[in-house]
Amino acid sequence: MLKALSSSCFQGRLKLSARFPAAVVNVGEGRSPLLRVLGSLTSPRGGSPVFWRKAFFCSERDDGSEPPGEAKAEEESEATANVAAEGGGAEEADSKASSAIVSMNPRPEDYLSVIALPLPHRPLFPGFYMPIYVKDPKLLAALVENRKRSVAYAGAFLLKDEPEIDVNVASGETDKSVYDLKGKELFKRLHEVGTLAQITSIQGDQVVLIGHRRLRITEMVDEDPLTVKVDHLKEEAYNKDDDIIKATAFEVISTLRDVLKTSSLWRDHVQTYTQHIGDFNYPRLADFGAAISGANKLLCQQVLEELNVYKRLKLTLELVKKEMEISKIQESIAKAIEEKVSREQRRYLLTEQLKAIKKELGMEKDDKTALTAKFRERLEPNKDRCPPNVLQVIEEELAKLQMLEPVSSEFNVTRNYLDWLTSLPWGNYSTENFDVHRAQKILDEDHYGLSDVKERILEFIAVGKLRGASQGKIICLSGPPGVGKTSIGRSIARALDRKFYRFSVGGLADVAEIKGHRRTYIGAMPGKMVQCLKSVGTANPLVLIDEIDKLGRGHAGDPASALLELLDPEQNINFLDHYLDVPIDLSKVLFVCTANVTETIPNPLLDRMEVISLAGYITDEKMHIARDYLEKTIREACGIKPDQVEVTGTALLSLIENYCREAGVRNLQKHIEKIYRKIALQLVRRGLSNEPEVDSPKIDPQDSSSTSEEAVEIVGDDQIGKNIDASASSVQANEIVSEETEHATSHDAAVESSEVPEQVANKGTNNVGEAVSSDVDKVVIDVSNLVDFVGKPVFHAERIYDQTPVGVVMGLAWNAMGGSTLYIETTLVEQGEGKCALHLTGQLGDVMKESAQIAHTVARAILLEKEPENQFFANSKCHLHVPAGATPKEGPSAGCTMITSMLSLAMNKPVKKDLAMTGEVTLTGRILPIGGVKEKTIAARRSNVKTIIFPSANRRDFDELADNVKEGLDVHFVDNYIQILELAFESKDAK
Ligand code: ADP
Repeated sequence: MLKALSSSCFQGRLKLSARFPAAVVNVGEGRSPLLRVLGSLTSPRGGSPVFWRKAFFCSERDDGSEPPGEAKAEEESEATANVAAEGGGAEEADSKASSAIVSMNPRPEDYLSVIALPLPHRPLFPGFYMPIYVKDPKLLAALVENRKRSVAYAGAFLLKDEPEIDVNVASGETDKSVYDLKGKELFKRLHEVGTLAQITSIQGDQVVLIGHRRLRITEMVDEDPLTVKVDHLKEEAYNKDDDIIKATAFEVISTLRDVLKTSSLWRDHVQTYTQHIGDFNYPRLADFGAAISGANKLLCQQVLEELNVYKRLKLTLELVKKEMEISKIQESIAKAIEEKVSREQRRYLLTEQLKAIKKELGMEKDDKTALTAKFRERLEPNKDRCPPNVLQVIEEELAKLQMLEPVSSEFNVTRNYLDWLTSLPWGNYSTENFDVHRAQKILDEDHYGLSDVKERILEFIAVGKLRGASQGKIICLSGPPGVGKTSIGRSIARALDRKFYRFSVGGLADVAEIKGHRRTYIGAMPGKMVQCLKSVGTANPLVLIDEIDKLGRGHAGDPASALLELLDPEQNINFLDHYLDVPIDLSKVLFVCTANVTETIPNPLLDRMEVISLAGYITDEKMHIARDYLEKTIREACGIKPDQVEVTGTALLSLIENYCREAGVRNLQKHIEKIYRKIALQLVRRGLSNEPEVDSPKIDPQDSSSTSEEAVEIVGDDQIGKNIDASASSVQANEIVSEETEHATSHDAAVESSEVPEQVANKGTNNVGEAVSSDVDKVVIDVSNLVDFVGKPVFHAERIYDQTPVGVVMGLAWNAMGGSTLYIETTLVEQGEGKCALHLTGQLGDVMKESAQIAHTVARAILLEKEPENQFFANSKCHLHVPAGATPKEGPSAGCTMITSMLSLAMNKPVKKDLAMTGEVTLTGRILPIGGVKEKTIAARRSNVKTIIFPSANRRDFDELADNVKEGLDVHFVDNYIQILELAFESKDAK
């Protein structure tokens, strides 16, 4: 019957060998004895606190068949073997435990009173080993003494739990209290039923017991050591063939087998008795099941106390069933974990394999290798020209890259750094073109006029040709907005065949913009210059630095000095960008700066610059620029063909004089763009509306008569028609009309012959005029319809007075926007003896206010000299005002204008017509030179000034002006105010 279990045990054992991980070493109290055995076997040598948990099984062939004496020799050897096993290792202990299975059978009458040994944790089942610790020296001595006297038996009784002691109390504490128990106290705590235990060995306080048969305590014999009288118990008689007992036993066996199948731990345990298992009878089977189960000690004690074999089997069955449930759960937990681990392992293995395969096939290089290869490849073309120190840094960084983890932040920093280092055009220069004729052609192609500027640029190129290099100078183009500074910069680059890069430093306050950030900062970037080199790809581009006069003030570091380092030919040969950290040679870069005024450019910078000023354009120049440059490019940009549009000269002139009076041409450009956009819309609309007219003539009358859209569209044409029909008032207009008529008539003929006659008829009925219908493809802009395209003039003449009244004089001013004219007016507030005072208005700055005070004093002195009897200043409160009061005004150059204005009032004489003047005056009446002669001259021309008075120190500036600027002007240069007096009031005298 029991062979079945035995065979399954063998199978399990064969598979097992060394599958247990070391992790199960420290098994806990609640585990099965099997676990405990394993735990103790694998625990480290010496003084193991879990030693008492060991339980070894030995077989007992037949109750009462052999005398204890026979077994003695074997007992001794087996006891030593056990101890040896303790120090020797798992395998050894295991085998010794098996070999310790001996036949022993003490006679009951020899052991009617035995020393009682308390078992704190589990009862000892017959046939099992159990090592215990005996802490009581007296008890230990008694046991040793007994052994010596061949009475190597004692009673082992499970201790009852102390009622107040929690079952969960730590084992250490329980042990301690157990060892303290003595005599009666101990007696009371012992379970009545225990086991006759053979003492197989005593090593120190460690005693190994083998259970033999059940005992029941009857009375206490001795207190210290506790000795008790016992009855030897026997199982109740039972029928071996009883079906119920059999069935229960089978169930126990099959459950044990199931547990063995699932729990590998049990299999190992079973190794110790597999050879004897066949000898088990039912009671022994029940004991075995209970002993190896992990059941709680009281349940085990119940099995021990049960003498009815059937009931004992039933109790055991319950315990092993429970064990099986636990083992099932354990199995499922193990399985789930194993699955998870293996899934992850599988994935890892597969990806590693994939990587290896890809590498093998050359499909993918590992990240770092690919990066390094990319950087090296990029560097290759420039390698010979690259400075050795830079090459060294690159090599070092590449080596560093290999050492870094790709996920680390430093890897990214190094990669970016290498990216910048390798993408710079080290030593890669484009060949320069010093062909002066070609340069002249390009400059003329791009810009009208500016002959002095062009000349300077050509000189510069010529020097470059002779020197073989054009660098070494910084050109600064200064002038009002829209005069073409930036576009000249671009033309120079084109003329020299250099790459062009532009950046603005207007309002720049952060030095890092120029010098770069240090690499340690997150998001660090190199400065503009390094970015420029990377973007242009050559080491000698033309760099245009815009708005250098509007450089901001840095809070950390001075952008001006950073810029100086960048621009100064002495320093920029080794320009050090904070990010790049290796010097770069910028000496071959040609720098061109632009500024509106040179006054605000930091002096050290200005010092190193070659300033070329562009003053602005006079009307005539603007006309040319508009006609030959702006119109052309804008027309092309709008996709309009030259024969589809015509802007007449008068329209352009009106545009320049009434709409775009500023020095530059950007506003003019905008206006022309506006006109062309509107023309484009007209052409497109016309094209669209023409089609239905041709296809379905019936709809046409409605269309042309009622739609307001159509009416708006053809306003231009309508008026052109009128222009053609009616003769215009001005001579200019007449000229243009004749031009237009020519166009119109020639076009008429073409249209009439080929295109839609109905259309002409329809338009005719609508009073639109023939010009419209016939001139479908051409839009003509003239003074009369200009307003439809650009609205009413926003800018009116700067001249308020045709002839300036007494006390009013025209001055000339100059600022970042160019030159302009301004009036200075003085009037009398009140008169009375000693009421000399001056009241100022017109948003005057401090310098201008002082200038007024000086003027007051000088005027008074001059009046005193010229008209000693005139007490005007002494007895008058005057008010000086500069119109356009919303515009702040500043500067000393209105001094002479103010004096003239005051004197005019004092002498009650208006100044000469069309006169303007400028110049700073000292208290002694000397005239000091001023800036912006050209701008002022141009502004004066715009205001139809005929006579200009300049300080004589400015004569040179004036002489340098182009003839067309100077043309028709009566210019006087003066040293002293007295000269102005003569010039200004001369007209009246003449009269
Ligand atoms: P700035 O840099 O001085 O403010 P830009 O260079 O931007 O002015 O010039 C504005 C526009 O005017 C550009 O389209 C430029 O081509 C045009 N322009 C300026 N001066 C001339 C000129 N002399 N001839 C032709 N076009 C000009």
